[in-house]
Order: sequence, then structure tokens, then C-alpha cells
Amino acid sequence: MTGIERYPRLFSPLDLGFTRLKNRVLMGSMHTGLEEAPNGFERMAEYFAERARGGVGMIITGGIAPNAEGGTGAKLSTPEEAAQHRIITDTVHAADPDVKICLQILHSGPLVAKEICVAPSPVKSRIGRFKPNELDEAGIEKQIADFANCARMAQQAGYDGVEIIGSAGYLISTFLVQKTNLRTDRWGGPWENRMRFAVEVVKRVRAAVGDRFILIFRISAMDMLEGGLAWDEVVSLGKAIEAAGANIISTHFCWHEAPVPTIATMVPRAAFTRVTGRLRKELNVPMITSNRINMPDVAEAALARGDADLISMARPMLADPELVLKAAQGREDEINTCIACNQACLDHTFGGRQQVTCLVNPRACNETLLRYLPVAAAKRIAVVGAGPAGLAYATVASKRGHRVTLFDAAAEIGGQFNLAKRVPGKEEFHETLRYYRRMIEVQGIELRLNTRVDAAMLAGMGFDEVVVATGITPRTPVLEGIDHPMVVPYIDAILERRPIGRRVAIMGAGGIGFDVAELITHAGTSAALDIDVFAKEWGIDFVNHPRGGVTGVQPVVAAADRTVYLMQRKTDPVGKTLGRTTGWTHRATLSRRGVHMINGVEYLKIDDAGLHTRVNGEPKLFEVDTVIVCAGQTPQRTLYDDLLAAGVKASLVGGAYEAVELDAKRAIDQASRMAAAV
Ligand code: FAD
Ligand code: NAP
Ligand code: SF4
Repeated sequence: MTGIERYPRLFSPLDLGFTRLKNRVLMGSMHTGLEEAPNGFERMAEYFAERARGGVGMIITGGIAPNAEGGTGAKLSTPEEAAQHRIITDTVHAADPDVKICLQILHSGPLVAKEICVAPSPVKSRIGRFKPNELDEAGIEKQIADFANCARMAQQAGYDGVEIIGSAGYLISTFLVQKTNLRTDRWGGPWENRMRFAVEVVKRVRAAVGDRFILIFRISAMDMLEGGLAWDEVVSLGKAIEAAGANIISTHFCWHEAPVPTIATMVPRAAFTRVTGRLRKELNVPMITSNRINMPDVAEAALARGDADLISMARPMLADPELVLKAAQGREDEINTCIACNQACLDHTFGGRQQVTCLVNPRACNETLLRYLPVAAAKRIAVVGAGPAGLAYATVASKRGHRVTLFDAAAEIGGQFNLAKRVPGKEEFHETLRYYRRMIEVQGIELRLNTRVDAAMLAGMGFDEVVVATGITPRTPVLEGIDHPMVVPYIDAILERRPIGRRVAIMGAGGIGFDVAELITHAGTSAALDIDVFAKEWGIDFVNHPRGGVTGVQPVVAAADRTVYLMQRKTDPVGKTLGRTTGWTHRATLSRRGVHMINGVEYLKIDDAGLHTRVNGEPKLFEVDTVIVCAGQTPQRTLYDDLLAAGVKASLVGGAYEAVELDAKRAIDQASRMAAAV
């Protein structure tokens, strides 16, 4: 059966009257930073064109502001700026004339990090830098005119349409919600007034671009705000937007400031599509659903349930530009699946300093810079260690034509990812390993598992290159009593090789300390695998849809019967080094489960009484029955050192190269770049 037969809805075209989408998958909008980068337009053109060649039906660009007060980065308001976009639209249409590309108009309102930021009322967002300036009547009129002008410029630049974002805490949505719209004039107060701005923007944009131009409006179908939009307001807004001239309505599920995760890895796949489905019954235009739809079967199922007409995949398109093509060709098992970690995409966007890319695909947004070009002369390469670094190196090198043998001492590939995938909420890590397993088969990499490599073994095998990706050794702190029977290394705790008691101290509160705390305090089904469990855990009511979906709903906490202390020596807040966009979710989960997070701890000794410490200078005994050590890692370089001693040239990669602040993002990136150059 071909993929097209397996996913009949996904691969059916959508007729919009004046134009046609070739399938039901669109690449959702993501601000990548290329918008403002040197050679950004050339790089964006290739980034989008690669996705167009990869089979997607429609592309939405990253958000572009309609005027100076609407954003901190790129804006589109002049013919000169429109001319710059031509390279994007021409390159995408040349890559596949059937692919549509729409510009997202993003007016960030109170979230703009400039003092000139504007909003309906001077209400500072919890995550905004400045209190916004209240718009007067003339200011409101200017914003609406600027939206219309931006759409006209997009049309002039060759785009097939625009998407107007009316959600997430950006300007349009702040008119809609009572707590950010305190006005008493015709733009505030009763619901009819609060929705006036959104409707007027759509009307004016439609008038500016004519009928034969795609107009998508992104609506907050569930904004996850206490006191947010009521369901009847969402429906009435959808109907008014439709009447004002939108061709498609796209559903969005949160404001950035909302305390509910909506795209992180602990969110179940397709968790929110039923909300789109409910709204779809009320409207006539085609509807887009999104959030945690990362594989074709998940997308097809959402369409089959009648939840939507179109599926937006954003991060999955960073992870694999050929996702749609692979699905069409029945090669789903070759899809490099987005694991929703946010580590290289949203964490970089909100960090503001690093270029957006993807943990599992470092080529994302680096298409013109990081190329995996075929080699003229193939080398025989030994890669020792099949963790993320070794896997990335082996697959990139073999894709380029090298002959690779991949060794691992373990019985399966994956290295530490085999530990990570056992943590509730990290089930997606299985997908990365499935992808690499398949690539090893497809690319004919010789895989030698259960093979602990030593220098003598390699010396006689005649490889042209030896790559040592042997990972790390967990650090064992120097401490009296560290060999006490109650002390358990994190690997044994995660693999359940040793019993864990009821009173537990975790030494070390880095990523692994948090994961171990999650694992040992977890009870019942993983929320990432069950939408109802997830909804209860985060206080979302999908059935009654109170205001914002969350108003008055208390999270239900399920936790193992354990007292857990998560400790670090630093006096920084515990969890400070976790991911920028996901750290708060881990801290919130553990807090709800009653985990004690303690900083400023000096470890003194471990004995039968427990863990003796000084906390902020005061002696304190933690009467625990288990101490789990998550105290960081050091490079595992035994093989490398032996090879050097034997005169065999080798390269180090991943944890074996540097263990400090190592994560899979760095391991895969470093390995891919090295393999691209060999
Ligand atoms: P490893 O994964 O350690 O792989 C090394 C491999 O080498 C192993 O398979 C080992 O068997 C093999 N090996 C060693 N010596 C030999 C030898 N002599 N012969 C043959 N084989 C040998 N990172 C993230 O980015 N995000 C996360 O969310 C995340 N979560 C994590 C959760 C947990 C519980 C853990 C433990 C780690 C997590 N990490 C995460 C970290 C990430 O897994 C590591 O950074 C990454 O695995 C390092 O990759 P590596 O290939 O360098 O080493
Ligand atoms: P880590 O993040 O560096 O944390 C190590 C912890 O051990 C710190 O809390 C550190 O805090 C403590 N520590 C260090 N030396 C110690 C010593 N001698 N005695 C006692 N405590 C000591 O490392 P990790 O938790 O082992 O994680 C390894 C890598 O995997 C990290 O780089 C991490 O990014 C990655 N990872 C990422 C995620 C994720 O969700 N993104 C999840 C898991 C792992 P103090 O020095 O203050 O005590
Ligand atoms: Fe997905 Fe993580 Fe890649 Fe972002 S970095 S696209 S969340 S896999």
C-alpha cells in the first residue's frame, strides 16, 4: 500500500475556489531568526524551498511585523522591503509551483521589547518587557491600515496569501480578552466591541488584496488564561472573521504567558485537535488544527475524526523537511520525528542569541551552510559508540558515501537515549532511535552491537578514520559514605536495577536529577500518552470549556508515595539551567508532587542515619533511605587514550569530547558537522 493510499485524507487536495492546495499539510509559522540574519532572505529561500520539495502543500513564513511598533525584528511595510521577499516566493514557486506560501503578519503588541509598543490598554504582560502605550482612536486606525498595507506588500512580493495571527497574547488577542482590554470606547467593554479590532483588520486586509488571495486568521480557540475567552466568544469571533473575508481559520491554543504547556514533549500528540473539531462544526470555512502532530498517522487520524480540514506541522518540518514526501512514498519509518524538546528551536527563539535549528536535524535553517555533499573517494570509517553522537556521525558520513562500521558495547543502539526514553514525558525519544535504526538499514551501515572495542581490536582492522563516540562516565562525588548501600547511581535508578526507598535524596539537580525526580515521583499513566490524564494534570477542561479552557479548574496531582529532596550545591534557584521554554513545566510538576528543591547544600557524609549536610551554613540531616547520585558526568576516553598510545589517529565526538554542558543537541550537531567535513 502506498502512503497516498494509507493517508487518503492527508493527500486529498483542498479547493479554495480561486486556488487549490495540493494536500492537507502546511508548514506552520515559526520565527527562526533568519528574518534578521545576514543573507537571511537567501537562507530562508533555501530553507522553505527544501520543505516545498519535501512535499508540503502550503508554507506559512515566520511572523513579520506590519509596522515598527509591531515587532522587534523584520517588518514589511514598504515596496523596498517587499522586493527583498521576492527571492523567497520565487525560489519556493520554482521548487514546486503547486506549493503555496503565505506571509504571517504578526503584530506582537505588548510583547514587543521596545518602549514604543502598543496595546488597547496599558496592561503589561507577565512576559513583556514594557508596559504598552494605550492606543488612541487614530492609533487604532493606523494599526488596522498597517495590517492592510502589509498584506498588500505581501501580495506584491509574490506570496499566495497571508496569515493574520489573532492569538497568543499578541496585539489582536489583547483586544479580545477582558483583562488586557480595559477600554470603555467602541473598542472595549462588551464582547461586540472587543472583537471589533480583529474583524476590522480582516475586512480591511480583504479589501486591500481582493478575493483571489488566501487569507488565514489564527484564532485562540482555547487561550489557557484564567478569565480568557469563553466558548461562545470563540464561536462568535470565528463566525465574524469568516463573514469578514477569511478563507481559512487556524486554531491556536495558548497565550505565551499561560501556565499550561501546549507543545512541549510531555503534551500528548494531537492533544488539542478536538477543540478545533468542535469549532469546525460551527463554521463553514476550512479549519487548520495544530500542536503535537508530528507523524502522518496522527495527522490522518485528526482528519478522519473530522477535527480539521488541514494539519499544521511546524517543528516537525524543522526535524524533517521531507516528512510529507516520505509519508507519500510509504517511507514513514524514515521520518526524523520532532521529539518536541524545544531545545534548538523555541529555546533559541526565546533565548534570542542562538540561531534556531533542530536538535535532531542541525541542517534546519542552516541549509546553505551545512551540506552533506557526496564524496569523491569513500573512506572506511569506524565509529565507536552508537549514542546520539555516534549515530549522527555514522548516518551523515554514510549518506555522503563513506563506508561506515558502527560499534557499540550495548545490545541496542542509543546510548543514554535509552535512559531518557524511560522517563515519563520523554516517550518521543523512541522515535529518534527508530529513525536511526532505519537509517542504519537503509544506508547499509555495518552495525556491530555487543562489541566492546579496544585499541588492539581496531589497530588491525585497517580503517581510514576512527571516531570515538564513547560518551561519558557518571561522576561519583568524593564523599564519606559514597559506597554506602543506600547510594544508587542514576543509571541503576532509571533502569530499576536497584530498589528505591520511600525517602529519597537526589544529589544533583541538573537535567538528569530532574528526570530522575520525575521518574520516581510519577504515578499512573504518563500524561504524554493520555490526553485526559494530561488535561487533569494541568487543569484543562476540554468538555465544558470554561473561559480560557482553564478558569476555575484545579490540576489533579497524582504522585508516588515518596518524600523526595532534589539538591544542589549552587545557591542559584533549582532548575535554573533547564530549557528556557520547558524548565518551568518540570519545576511546576515536581512542586505539585511535593518534591523539596533545595539549593546551597554542602554534602558532608552518608551513613545509616541518612545524608548529612550543611544547608546555607546550617547542619542538616536528611533521614533518607536512598541517595541517588546525579552529579554530572566526565568524558569516557579510555579507548581514545589507548588508541593514542598505540599510535592510531582518532577523533573525539559527543560526550567523549566534552561532558560539561553536553546534551544531545550539541552531540548531534558536532557529529553532523564533523561528518559533513570528513
Ligand atoms: P552516549 O549517549 O553516552 O553514548 C555512548 C555510547 O558509547 C554508549 O552506547 C556506549 O555503550 C558506547 N561505548 C562506550 N565505550 C565503548 C566501547 N569501548 N566500545 C563500544 N561501545 C562503547 N539530552 C538532551 O539533549 N535532551 C534531553 O532531554 C536529555 N535527556 C536525558 C535524560 C537522561 C535520563 C539522560 C541519561 C540523558 C539525557 N540527555 C538529554 C543527554 C543525552 O542523552 C546525552 O547528551 C547524549 O546521549 C550524549 O551522546 P553521546 O553519543 O556522546 O554519548
Ligand atoms: P548537569 O546538568 O551538569 O548537572 C549536574 C548536577 O550535579 C548539577 O546539579 C551539579 O550541581 C551537580 N554536581 C556537579 N558536580 C558535583 C559533585 N562533585 N558533587 C555533587 N554534585 C555535583 O548534568 P546532568 O544532570 O548529569 O545531565 C547531563 C547532560 O544531559 C546535561 O548537560 C543536560 O543538559 C543533559 N540533559 C538534558 C535534559 C533536558 O531536558 N534538556 C535532561 C536530562 C539531561 P551543583 O554543582 O550545584 O551541586
Ligand atoms: Fe522538534 Fe526538538 Fe527539533 Fe525543536 S529542536 S524541532 S522540538 S526535535
